[in-house]
Amino acid sequence: MTARSIAAAVASGARSAVSVLDEHLARVGEREDEIHAFNLVTEDKARGQAEAVDAAVTAGEPVGPLAGVPLALKDNMCTRGIPTTCSSKILEGWRPPYDATVVSRLADAGAVFVGKTNLDEFAMGSSTENSAFGPTRNPLDTGRVPGGSSGGSAAAVAANFAPLAIGSDTGGSIRQPAAFCGIVGMKPTYGAVSRYGLIAFGSSLDQVGPFAANVADAAALFDIIAGHDPLDSTSIAGFTPNAVDHLDRGVEGLRVGVVRELCGGAGSVKGLSADVLARTNEAIEALAAAGATVEEVSVPSTTLGLSAYYIVAPAEASSHLARYDGVRYGLRVDAPTTGEMNAATRTTGFGAEVKRRIMLGTYALSAGYYDAFYGKALKVRTMMLRDFASVYENFDVLITPTAPTTAFPFGERSGDPMMMYVNDVCTIPSNLTGHPGISVPFGVGDDGLPVGVQVLAPALQDGLTFQVAAVLEAAADGGGAS
Ligand code: GLN
Repeated sequence: MTARSIAAAVASGARSAVSVLDEHLARVGEREDEIHAFNLVTEDKARGQAEAVDAAVTAGEPVGPLAGVPLALKDNMCTRGIPTTCSSKILEGWRPPYDATVVSRLADAGAVFVGKTNLDEFAMGSSTENSAFGPTRNPLDTGRVPGGSSGGSAAAVAANFAPLAIGSDTGGSIRQPAAFCGIVGMKPTYGAVSRYGLIAFGSSLDQVGPFAANVADAAALFDIIAGHDPLDSTSIAGFTPNAVDHLDRGVEGLRVGVVRELCGGAGSVKGLSADVLARTNEAIEALAAAGATVEEVSVPSTTLGLSAYYIVAPAEASSHLARYDGVRYGLRVDAPTTGEMNAATRTTGFGAEVKRRIMLGTYALSAGYYDAFYGKALKVRTMMLRDFASVYENFDVLITPTAPTTAFPFGERSGDPMMMYVNDVCTIPSNLTGHPGISVPFGVGDDGLPVGVQVLAPALQDGLTFQVAAVLEAAADGGGAS
């Protein structure tokens, strides 16, 4: 059942929210030991929410648009009184004193929170192998990673533990796991969704966004979480995306650009696998068949995105993560002096990748290297913004693969950070520019695992990404994809 049909059935009284929850918890019971999508299953919380929805229906009171729909929250979203770990030992035992804005909006909409999902520690990674609590497995092939960093959320939807999930995307962490798990994942325009209560990785890049098994459910979830929040100073005022209204508009007359550098054309980045490119080309053909005009376009600075991101994101992270000092949150490792206590706590509490990012970031920001690294990365970021702005004078949307390959086997890249980082080459540009992007499944690779195609659009055109994704989804379902 789709999230929308569950909500309709619950609101009409045809189904109880509790029975919907039980059905999903039964699936969790069957497969969670193998998948490990969750850091915590919040059964009591979920049951309370489901009973409240059922009571409201029985009393004839109005219920929200997600009445009784099970939903999984990435474990970097603050939930009042419920452990929130970022999959890090340093936050073990910490219970936030407040809910993230997205969390309270979803609760108001009637959603039922089934649990907090696993992630790469502090959202740093592309495979969920960097979690301090063990990896999540891809429900479609448990020998493969689910992608990351929101791997638990993507796996929860792919395994139908919940029809909806929330993730965060700093460099691709919603879109890439969506692609690896064969579902839909969307990164909104920077500022479209509140970051209040999202634990920061890189604040100028982070966005919260939806996961769903289909485009319409993802659009419905996005419309609920989007909107101005005075508690987030970067939240955009007066922007109501109405993504659901875009779903049936088609692509007739839309100008679609195929990004040469990310689609295997001249000057393309290396490492894009042939099967992923083949599915991407079929998706492009499907858009042309549906009436779009399609043309190859060069966005030269996209190839610099990885280098700029892996300076900017660690720089911001090194500053944000300074707050985990053994005093205010979670873990404390006692030592004779405060300084030694800080060091012992951080040495014990952070994993290897987080330490690597903190070191990269502090180095890039340090006196003498600031201009050469951080300053230069910011210049690349501005250049990318200009490049995309000029491309969008002639195109409505751009198409790329979401990730260079399908889901890879465990351990294949975890020993080599660079191998892991190149995974983000297609998704990073829209984090640096703040633009929206969506990943939609389009056929399978040679290994039988799903391929994700990415639709990019200018800032505030979030609705357009869903509009194009809906056409791709229909084409893929209609047998257009192999
Ligand atoms: N894989 C990227 C990184 O490791 C992106 C992570 C994310 O979007 N949170 O930084």
